[in-house]
Amino acid sequence: MAETAQSESRKLLGRLRDTMADDRAGQTRLNEITRIIADSMNCEVCSIYLFRDTITLELCASEGLNAEAVHKTRLRMGEGLVGRVAERGSVINAADAPKEKGFRYMPETGEEIYSSFLGVPIQRLGQGLGVLVVQSKEKRKFTADEIYGVEVVAMVLAEMSELGAFIGEGEALKAPHQEAAVFKGTTAQEGFASGQVWLHEPRVVLTNLVSDEPEQEKERLHNALNELRTYAKGLLKRHGRVSGETLDVLEAYAMFVNSQGWIKRIESDIEKGLSAEAAVEKQQSVARARLAKAPDAYLRERLHDLDDMSNRLLRLLTGQGDYQTSEMPQKPILVASSIGPAELLDYGRKLNGIILEEGSVGSHATIIARAIGIPLLIHVDNITTEALNGDPILVDAEQELVHLRPDESVAQAFQDRMAMATQAQKRYAALRDKKAISQCNRKIEILMNAGLMVDLPNLKGSGAEGVGLFRTELQFLASQKMPRRAELSETYSRVMDAADGLSVVFLTLDIGSDKVLPYMNHVSEPNPALGWRAIRVGLDKRGILRMQLQALLRGAAGRPIAIMFPFITVPSEFYEARGEFEKVLQQERQLGHKIPEDIKIGAMLETPALAYAPDQFFQDVDFLSIGGNDLKQFFFAADRENEMVRKRYDILNTSYMRFLSHIVKRCDENNTKLSYCGEDAGKPLEAMALSAIGLNSLSMRAASIGPVKHLLMRTHLGELETFIEGICHSQHGSIRSDLTGYFAQNGTIV
Ligand code: PEP
Ligand code: MG
Repeated sequence: MAETAQSESRKLLGRLRDTMADDRAGQTRLNEITRIIADSMNCEVCSIYLFRDTITLELCASEGLNAEAVHKTRLRMGEGLVGRVAERGSVINAADAPKEKGFRYMPETGEEIYSSFLGVPIQRLGQGLGVLVVQSKEKRKFTADEIYGVEVVAMVLAEMSELGAFIGEGEALKAPHQEAAVFKGTTAQEGFASGQVWLHEPRVVLTNLVSDEPEQEKERLHNALNELRTYAKGLLKRHGRVSGETLDVLEAYAMFVNSQGWIKRIESDIEKGLSAEAAVEKQQSVARARLAKAPDAYLRERLHDLDDMSNRLLRLLTGQGDYQTSEMPQKPILVASSIGPAELLDYGRKLNGIILEEGSVGSHATIIARAIGIPLLIHVDNITTEALNGDPILVDAEQELVHLRPDESVAQAFQDRMAMATQAQKRYAALRDKKAISQCNRKIEILMNAGLMVDLPNLKGSGAEGVGLFRTELQFLASQKMPRRAELSETYSRVMDAADGLSVVFLTLDIGSDKVLPYMNHVSEPNPALGWRAIRVGLDKRGILRMQLQALLRGAAGRPIAIMFPFITVPSEFYEARGEFEKVLQQERQLGHKIPEDIKIGAMLETPALAYAPDQFFQDVDFLSIGGNDLKQFFFAADRENEMVRKRYDILNTSYMRFLSHIVKRCDENNTKLSYCGEDAGKPLEAMALSAIGLNSLSMRAASIGPVKHLLMRTHLGELETFIEGICHSQHGSIRSDLTGYFAQNGTIV
């Protein structure tokens, strides 16, 4: 960039800084800014358009256009050249604007006399706030230096409007960070929570944007980069011999910290008059915009790493690094873009709720949040840029909504609903010691799903008759390295201690698909849900399977034990896995360890194929449990992780009901014990349908036991069975509304 262009840009930023520092009303300042920009660019027009809502842009200030058009002219996203700049998030540079594709004539502005047009998005960290436009009569294209200069100015503006001074009808409005906001998300763990925002990684707030001392700023940048290099080296050293994904991340750090291209771009922005932190953030915005469009998962991951590293750099430059020592609010609701299982376990029960921008229904964080029973919403877009530490926040995981800084009326209505839910829980607690028996005297075994030690003290209080599914993968997922056998057996032993004689079914390591162990070589698969997962991994990595089986036997130390293999698709997989168990058993016996007398070995039925296995298989297993979360995704060919199809098919569909009845029948014929342990077993209406068609053992989250028992004790399962059979023979589609009608007619509210 030419020397003169650089010093022009610095001069302009200097003038802007002075204007930003003065304390005149928002609109006056905004007008002044457009005047300064137009003047320094030698253009007749400079205008600022800002978003009024997610799709409407409003002309908020202008030098050169008709003053009456300000706060009147509005455009939709994609409309006219300005709308197009906003929609694409990229620059439009046109010498003859009226001839440009998409041009829209707005008579009130008087802009028809201006030929050239330069529109630059005003963005903050990839989020569009508006558009900065310069126009002139002269028919010419703007130079690359000019565009760069306007982009830098737009970035400075982004910080200003982000601080909330300008958007409004000619007056300074409340800062966006003081306004109530509602966000939509996807429920990953049901429940309500009310509390205060606790940002897992709080956003760095920039106050020092502009600087006249480029050399000094560059020195600050390089000092911070050196600190970051030391940090990255330390990480590599601490992690020792790492491989796979961890190494990728660390290498990415090292790569960015030493990337000359990236550093040069930051330096060039500093030379134009930005402070070191503003320049780093500008490059971070560019990377975020690319991240949003990156089609490739690998590239997206690397851009995430760059984002993470930019944040660290910003913390070093601004000194806002001490967030971990700041005090947690009383009822913290964690807000983050994403979070790892270990970090979440560290917070443990301290959190009242969790809100993530990313994540998936089956991700590690979700599994842990479910296990701990904390309401969790995922896919909540842009919450980390809106929320500030300590903001009041309500999580409504029933309606999939987040209320940030709610109005009093919303907060009151929410408190009322929470109080009702607490009352219902009290009613359910009263059922704890009652047997789960239907009106027609059918006894249903109610079991609990668990996966962490913290669940176990809950067992007796929950009213469950045992643990129908203990997911052992959480301990593996939460660990930075492969857990050792002794650690595992210690945990299994404590689980059995806590169960205090009640049965616990241990599911062997169920990883793969979305559950990836950070320390195991990750293979990229086109269709992970149909890929190398669960028992398929176990049979290919027998060392791990054997180690876990040994740990289970040692943990049991002679007590009765039940072991279930996940994702058995064909009987041979079960026989092979059981063969490994028998070998381990033999070894343990020879080593003199205590061997349980009561051993049950079963399989999780998660693929339709297993429902059609030969009778012999049904006789050979000690029990089967339907893993409905997976079974239904394969039955309907609808990915449980894909929001577009996840809720498309109802398990109360007649075809699925008939399929489940078929499994029940086969188990009855072969005298095989059968239970259902997918999430649907914990939903009262679904649980009644499952019980009615013959599934007399259901395993669910502890919180679901009360509501299910409550409804079961009011239901005549025999009658319901006849009712369901009738519909399944005569109709297709979901029987949900028929079932709801059935209960309503019988005076039962579900
Ligand atoms: C299931 O598939 O229903 C199950 C219990 O396991 P997961 O949800 O962990 O796959
Ligand atoms: Mg499963």
